[in-house]
Amino acid sequence: MTVKDVVANADLATFNKIDESGLDKFTKLSNFEVSAIFLEYAAKNIRNNRVINAGRGNPNWINTTARLANQKLVNFGVEESKRTFERDDGAMAGFIEGEGVADRFLATLSDTDSTDQFLRSAFDYCVDKLGFDKDAFVKELLDGVIGNNYPVPSRALKYTEQILNAYLQKNLYKGVDLAGETDVFPTEGGTAAMVYLFQELKQSHILNPGDTIAINSPIFTPYLQIPELAEYNLKIVKLAADEDDNWQMTDEQMDTLKDPSIKGFFDVNPTNPSARAYSPHTLDKFKEVVEANPNLVVISDDVYGTFADDYQSIYAAIPHNTLLVYSFSKLYGATGQRLGLIAANKNNVCDRIIKEVTNNDKSIKDAMEERYSMVVPEPNEMKFIDRTVADSRAIGLYHTSGLSTPQQIMMDLFALNSLITDDVDDYLLTSKKVVNYRYHALWDEIGVNVDNSHANTKYYTLVDIYDLVEKVHGEEFGKYFRSQYSYLSFPYRLAKEFGAVVMDASGFGARKGYVRISLANLTSDDYRDLAKCIKSLIDEYYMEFQQDQKA
Ligand SMILES: *Cc1c(COP(=O)(O)O)cnc(C)c1O
Repeated sequence: MTVKDVVANADLATFNKIDESGLDKFTKLSNFEVSAIFLEYAAKNIRNNRVINAGRGNPNWINTTARLANQKLVNFGVEESKRTFERDDGAMAGFIEGEGVADRFLATLSDTDSTDQFLRSAFDYCVDKLGFDKDAFVKELLDGVIGNNYPVPSRALKYTEQILNAYLQKNLYKGVDLAGETDVFPTEGGTAAMVYLFQELKQSHILNPGDTIAINSPIFTPYLQIPELAEYNLKIVKLAADEDDNWQMTDEQMDTLKDPSIKGFFDVNPTNPSARAYSPHTLDKFKEVVEANPNLVVISDDVYGTFADDYQSIYAAIPHNTLLVYSFSKLYGATGQRLGLIAANKNNVCDRIIKEVTNNDKSIKDAMEERYSMVVPEPNEMKFIDRTVADSRAIGLYHTSGLSTPQQIMMDLFALNSLITDDVDDYLLTSKKVVNYRYHALWDEIGVNVDNSHANTKYYTLVDIYDLVEKVHGEEFGKYFRSQYSYLSFPYRLAKEFGAVVMDASGFGARKGYVRISLANLTSDDYRDLAKCIKSLIDEYYMEFQQDQKA
């Protein structure tokens, strides 16, 4: 039943009685919390519609290949462990021996099973292309999945680091060769990567309380919230990209980064929620920026990098100034596994700033030396990324730091999905196709022009409700709508009346009236239905407007 049917059949008056007086109390909450509350309303929506939750960024797909391969490695690892124990004793087995393990492993792989074929290709790639020692590599994989040793080296397992470097190189750098000069620290998702970096920038006196950082908003909410916490107390300059510029920063906005009082630039690229990758022009501007402001520290969160066409990371443009964050959560449907990383160039600005700070301030130098002398013989030489690892475990637990080894091997397997094909791999192409047809299902049904440019990842899409209502029913109604309703009215009613949840995007720093729709977690049919609900709700507001005009 459409809204028109409902309205024709009933009681128009009820639609004027939607109580919105309580919406004010939501304006202080994070948009993620508001979404959770609206989801509860949606579950009890007055039309009894099924719930359409387009608020969540969690994808509804998974990569099967890596998971099945992981299971094979566990099985084989257990068999190998049984070979070495002093006696066959129930559930207890021993440790894996490296000698000859690669050949024994290859002998278990059939030519017909697709998981086995994947493992064979992955093995060949690592041995032939990356030059790994075959027994040592297979032993790292097996010990890793079995998880019977603390991670050593603690920052990243030896071969894991090289695989992750090859993956980042292939998918994010667009031809710029950085794999050999990049250190990687695998972390518990992009979430931990961000937390560790914020902590370390403070700990290393690179960003001090009262310092100013810049942010390109709208942006994933934590990047707005964390710097404002009392312990960081950073001043934020928001660069506020605009839809009229296709969500690219303008030259004027980029020029503000040239001011040396701007110490950091925290960035999500491609953006969340506006879902655009930076243009080659913007990347060139970054080069200009760091020439003028050489101590600028950029954090680039590239979680959505693979969803844009022809993508290039800021890290590839200004490698010495950029700390790269990546996560396997989105592309591989692995949010529960917590797989992410920090990557930093071996020659990076943070190490240079640490040297400057400690040379200029003896008390800081002494304190830092004292702090890290617990764990390394030459604390002054400790690299920023290794300090990040040590501080992630409060120094005292540096020897047991590092990401769990089964998680590191899972990352290897996801990365190898991509690496074993010379060109772009099918899985990655499929992920782009999936969000693309959902994007079209939504926008074609709404009936508004879409952006098919390379920059648009289509993982999310922003809807400017004010603009949309005006497009549908004209300017006068647009004005009325803006003046009569809270900016939360639309997502609120969409949940309460239609059972559909979208996320208020002003929480990401977008203008009020924008909502974010995730294209990652529902079917195309759902997006078509969501578009219908959106149109019906607009019609409903329009009827209220007409009634009001008559009264
Ligand atoms: C989803 C998302 C992440 C992922 O974090 P995980 O902890 O790896 O799940 C990081 N950054 C942004 C901008 C995201 O949208």
